[in-house]
Amino acid sequence: MLLSSSLSKLVFIVISGPDAVGSRGCCGDAQETKRTYASDGNAFAMDCNRCEEEAIMHAAYSGAHLCADHFRESVEKRVRRRVRRDDLVPHDVTPENPQTWVIGLSGGKDSVVLTKILHDTFAADPRIELVGLTIHEGIEGYRDKSLEACVDLTDDLGIRHEVVSYEEEFGVRMDDVVEDDPENMAACAYCGVFRRDLLSKYADELEADLLLTGHNLDDEAQSALMNFLEGDVEQMAKHFDASLGPLSERDEQDEFVPRAKPLRDVPEKEVALYAHVNDLPAHITECPHSSEAYRGEIQQLLYGLEENHPGTRHSILSGYEELAGILSDEFSGDDGADLQECVECGSTTTREVCRKCSLLESLV
Ligand code: SF4
Ligand SMILES: [Zn+2]
Ligand SMILES: [Zn+2]
Repeated sequence: MLLSSSLSKLVFIVISGPDAVGSRGCCGDAQETKRTYASDGNAFAMDCNRCEEEAIMHAAYSGAHLCADHFRESVEKRVRRRVRRDDLVPHDVTPENPQTWVIGLSGGKDSVVLTKILHDTFAADPRIELVGLTIHEGIEGYRDKSLEACVDLTDDLGIRHEVVSYEEEFGVRMDDVVEDDPENMAACAYCGVFRRDLLSKYADELEADLLLTGHNLDDEAQSALMNFLEGDVEQMAKHFDASLGPLSERDEQDEFVPRAKPLRDVPEKEVALYAHVNDLPAHITECPHSSEAYRGEIQQLLYGLEENHPGTRHSILSGYEELAGILSDEFSGDDGADLQECVECGSTTTREVCRKCSLLESLV
C-alpha cells in the first residue's frame, strides 16, 4: 500500500501521543494508526499560526498549528538546519571537486522524505552529488514493493540509483535465513550485520564522502534511551563519532565513511505526513520479520511519555547528543579495540573473521 493512498482520508492530525502501534525493525516502516478527525467533525479545525489557511496538523510539543504549505516549510527548514549544524558540507568543497553523498534508500517514508528534501536542497548545487542505494534483503512481498517506490522516486528526481541484494552479494535471502536460524537469533540481528556490511562496502565503491540515513526523531530518541538504559557510555561516544556529532567535532575514523542523519529533528508522524502532503511514493508495509522486541518496548514507553509530557523526545535527544559529545572527548583515541582486516573478506573488523563472514559460515 502506498502511503499516499493509505492517508487519503487524513484531515487533521495531532503530532503527539501513543497512537501509533507496532514495533519496528530497521527500516522505519512501521505501520501507524493515525488519530484522525473526519471533515464533518470539525471540533479540532483551526487556522494555521502563520497564515489564514486551515491547519492540517498540530504539534503538541511546540503548540504549532500549520497548514500544508507551512508544515512543508517547517520540515524542510529543520532538515536544512541540521545539515548546517552538523557541518555536512565542508567549507572547501567546490564544483570541480564535488562531494558524493550516498543515501540509504529503503523506499520507506523516512528515506524517501530525506531523499526528496536533500534533492530539493542540492539539485542546483554542483558541489553535492546524490546517489540512492537500495539494499534488497530477499523478503517476499516486502522489498519488491518498496523497491518500486525507490525506482519511481529516483526516476522522478533524476537521481542515480544503485540496488544491491543479499542474494547476489552473499548467496542468502532473509526469508531463508529466518527459516534456518542457525544462531537462534532474531531476524534483525542477522539482517543488521548484512546491511551494515553492504552499506559500508558500497559507500566505499561509490567513493562516498558521506552516508546518509533517514532516521527520524523517534528512532534516535529510542536509540538514545536504549543506550542510557543499558548504561553503555562507550556506545554513546561511538554513536557521536559515527553519525551524530557535527563532522568537525567527531573523532577521526579513517576506516569508515562518515554517516549522518539529517532527518533526526523530525518526529516519525511528521515524516509520514510530509510524504503524504507531497504525494511521495513511500511504501509503508512493515517487514514481516521485524523483531526488535526491546526497541518496541522503548517505543511504547516514549509514546506514553510524549503524550503526557510533549517535547520529551526532543529533550532526550538533545541531552543525549551533548553527553555523547563529552564522552567522545573522554574516549578520544581510545576505541578499545584493535581494528584489522577480516581474513575471509578483507573488511575492517575487531576479530580475525568478521561477524558477517561468521554468520554466513553458519548458514552454509
Ligand atoms: S529483518 Fe526486516 S525489520 Fe529486521 S533488519 Fe531486516 S528488513 Fe529490517
Ligand atoms: Zn499557513
Ligand atoms: Zn569478513
